[in-house]
Amino acid sequence: MSQPSTQVSLWPEGKRFAFTVFDDTDLGTCEKLRSVYALLDKLGFRTTKSCWGKRGDPKSGKYSGETLDDEQYRNWILDLQSKGFEIGWHGATWHTARRREVAEALDRFAEVFGHDPAAATNHTGARESIYWGGHRLTGWRRTVYNLLTCYRNSGKYGGHIEGNDLFWGDICRQRIKYYRNFTFRDINTLKACPFMPYHDPLRPYVNYWFAASDGHDVQTFNHCIGEAEQDRLEEEGGACLMYTHFAMGFSDPRGVNPRFEKLMRRLAKKNGWFVPVGVLLDHLLDRRGPRQITAAKRSGLETRWLWEKIFVGTT
Ligand SMILES: [Zn+2]
Repeated sequence: MSQPSTQVSLWPEGKRFAFTVFDDTDLGTCEKLRSVYALLDKLGFRTTKSCWGKRGDPKSGKYSGETLDDEQYRNWILDLQSKGFEIGWHGATWHTARRREVAEALDRFAEVFGHDPAAATNHTGARESIYWGGHRLTGWRRTVYNLLTCYRNSGKYGGHIEGNDLFWGDICRQRIKYYRNFTFRDINTLKACPFMPYHDPLRPYVNYWFAASDGHDVQTFNHCIGEAEQDRLEEEGGACLMYTHFAMGFSDPRGVNPRFEKLMRRLAKKNGWFVPVGVLLDHLLDRRGPRQITAAKRSGLETRWLWEKIFVGTT
């Protein structure tokens, strides 16, 4: 059954729904990404492409890629920015960085793009990640998560812990507006997390959290934005903030994945608002005011995420 049209009025310019993407930069290079972004540009999507501030150690981390230290890549990202894409933050580099390195990489970001990043996500290979691993969850849900992951991620991440040598939470609060936590399998992210962007008083170094829909590789992405799902997103007047890695299977030397291209062309023909993550979240914040998550809502969100993680395998 369709939702009433009250949600439709959330969007400006008479748009019926919103759709955007946060592209995690893991494995990202100009070569792998150019054709994907050329397609997005041509179809009128303006999304968020994340980056790393500096080149890391090639011997560390599994998912290295190009960074702001690579001139060709930097110029290509600047060109994307000039076309209206947003550049987001994915940490200093592809492996763990200390507080000073994070601050320097953020300075580099601001120097290149003219401002601090609006939207950011943790990189799992970086131990300075903030409220990550078991710290994403509260109470018994953290215990369940730690048991499920055999305590692999318990105590691993220290970006939010004062006194830890990886602490940079105060810098995060000063310089970054939106941070991602939970992802869900549904295309309508706003249905899964209707109160985003939200502040969580238990996780105060993040100004506002946002959720995302899980499209971490091309198969998951295509599944999430299938024809029926697109139609439902439109009917529900919702918003999809897709989380993905565009360097993971979306293109090869022959071009862009055909199913992805077909689905994006179909979506582009709809009356959607296709703006970057920061613009979409700013709009929700302006429209509805700042929101603080309640204990009951936190519990609902965390339980749903944990359930999907166990039974669907969301990230
Ligand atoms: Zn990553």
